[in-house]
Amino acid sequence: MPAPLQFPFPETPPLGTTIEVAPGVRWLRMVLPFALDHINLWLLDDEQDGVPGFTIVDCGLSNDSTRAAWEQVFATHIGAKPVYRLIVTHYHPDHAGNAGWLVERFGCELWMTQGEYLTAHAVMDNAAGYSPEAAIVLYKANGMDTSHDDGLAKRGHFYRKSVLPLPNQYRRMLDGETLTIGGRSWKVLVGNGHAPEHASLYCAAIGVCISGDMLLPKISTNVSVWSVDPNGDPLGQFLDSIRAYRDLPEDTLILPSHGLPFRGAHERVTALEQHHAERLAELEAAMVAANAPLAAFDVLETLFRRKLDTHQTTFAMGEAIAHLHYLRNAGRARRVIGSDGIVRYAPPAVRQAGAG
Ligand SMILES: [Zn+2]
Repeated sequence: MPAPLQFPFPETPPLGTTIEVAPGVRWLRMVLPFALDHINLWLLDDEQDGVPGFTIVDCGLSNDSTRAAWEQVFATHIGAKPVYRLIVTHYHPDHAGNAGWLVERFGCELWMTQGEYLTAHAVMDNAAGYSPEAAIVLYKANGMDTSHDDGLAKRGHFYRKSVLPLPNQYRRMLDGETLTIGGRSWKVLVGNGHAPEHASLYCAAIGVCISGDMLLPKISTNVSVWSVDPNGDPLGQFLDSIRAYRDLPEDTLILPSHGLPFRGAHERVTALEQHHAERLAELEAAMVAANAPLAAFDVLETLFRRKLDTHQTTFAMGEAIAHLHYLRNAGRARRVIGSDGIVRYAPPAVRQAGAG
């Protein structure tokens, strides 16, 4: 039996308060209006030119209630001290939402990888192939029927509503770079598959890794194909990326963006590999059983086993396409484009006996 994950901090910090989880590392949470009901953010002791201050990691959605919770944290923990920098792990709205507000308020620097910073701007501006309409084109090409048309039309531009304003300057973080925060070295670990260049941070001196969305204790990270990269293999990229957590010492305290801080990164990577292997095997079985090519939309029930609303369906479509692309890349499925233009997948063609 593999060792279960350990959760050394079972009590979560009430809104507007913090819990110290390692020397100079404080945990706070903000509310999210989704099934995923919270995000974890981190406050790190920092220092510049001999003056103590803070680095903030991730910022919550841009809305009044999150800002009110931030105000409480400013009042109780930050006080008159400076905030030197805001590190945003990746461009998603729950992580980048208040970036502009925090940067303006503290006059601090925004630190992100280039892929995340530019993607945030592209999504905001419907540039570089990002737009809600382009996403719908992708889902329809992968078999989504018209039952979600009304829900999709009403959605609007969620990113814009949840992130504005976005800073127009940043400090670029690179994979493998070492940052000095509060006199300690933190290494930047860039991972792919969930977002273009997601940054996690590892401090060997205190045995802590801020994993962001790349390693979560309970749920599996969303890994989706997006319209901008419609033939991409984000699942392959994600599975490659999470292997890096096996290189960390086994007792590293992982600070995830959702769920509780935990120890057991190696075990968690293994569990996620098994989870995706099972999903992939189920898809292969579904393709054999169907006896006809299947579109991503046709396999949502196989993958998710529950009724999905429109919002969940779009996430599920991205994930289903990602799994089918992985199978095709691995030679475990072939793509069939029907006369209706819809992309479907079937088991690989059976080779002739003796053909090698
Ligand atoms: Zn994310």
